[in-house]
Amino acid sequence: MNLRRKTALVTGSTSGIGLGIAMALAESGCNLILNGFGETSAIERLRLQIEEEHKVRVDYFDADLSKPGECRELIVRAQIAAGELDILVNNAGIQYVAPVEQFPQAQWDAVLAVNLSSAFHLIAAALPAMRAQKFGRIINISSVHGLVGSIHKSAYVAAKHGLVGLTKVVALETAGQGITCNAICPGWVLTPLVQRQIEAKAESEGVDLETASKEILDEKQPSGIFTTSAQIGALAVFLCSQSADNLTGACLPVDGGWLAR
Ligand code: NAD
Repeated sequence: MNLRRKTALVTGSTSGIGLGIAMALAESGCNLILNGFGETSAIERLRLQIEEEHKVRVDYFDADLSKPGECRELIVRAQIAAGELDILVNNAGIQYVAPVEQFPQAQWDAVLAVNLSSAFHLIAAALPAMRAQKFGRIINISSVHGLVGSIHKSAYVAAKHGLVGLTKVVALETAGQGITCNAICPGWVLTPLVQRQIEAKAESEGVDLETASKEILDEKQPSGIFTTSAQIGALAVFLCSQSADNLTGACLPVDGGWLAR
């Protein structure tokens, strides 16, 4: 894949899947705008490392995507820095786990804001320029939880289903205009977000991390293995390529068979 002279904004790319996608895009020659939380010096080291390794331009902007104004501003900053924004990957996400009647309202609002509303604000702000340049790739990182439910994840499942719906509407509104919008729906990928769930399970059940990790996989993911962030990155690169010009409105599971059951 050759994505030279393209620029991608990957939200939540200081960690996990977002970082895997950013790395894969950079490997294909794509310039990057990183975003996400983290320690300033560690982010700067990461930025310089990707620039040096892949000979691409890498910027970092520190928007808090739970805030609509910062989402809109992030697109403007990205467009000013890059000239053109060709690819938008809505990846930033958070998780909170509790039974529905005990789910704190503040956590519900936060999960919806970061996992769903930020994608709406970023897409709305990025689309006019994509339409003008007759090219755009929008990739929303949903989840298997965009297609099925699991207990104690009401906000997350609602947000990820919402993101699948948003993906379809944006695909329809941009069809035939050189713009595609798709969702990737991962099952378990071993990232800090999932590591925290494994640690919580190990603690609540009094088992070691290896046992908790195996139980999490056995319960849902028939392959018994975690998908890697690099594998999600490779799919994102494909969705940005010319081969995927006519692939839009799709929700693509990468889930070791989770949804086949
Ligand atoms: P992670 O915790 O490793 O990374 C999340 C990223 O989002 C980080 O860079 C973090 O700084 C950023 N972020 C969080 N809140 C933010 C905010 N308010 N503003 C800006 N950035 C913010 O998690 P991950 O597992 O890599 O998850 C990435 C995406 O993939 C999420 O949308 C998640 O729901 C989705 N996903 C993950 C899995 C999995 O198994 N890990 C499965 C399905 C879907």
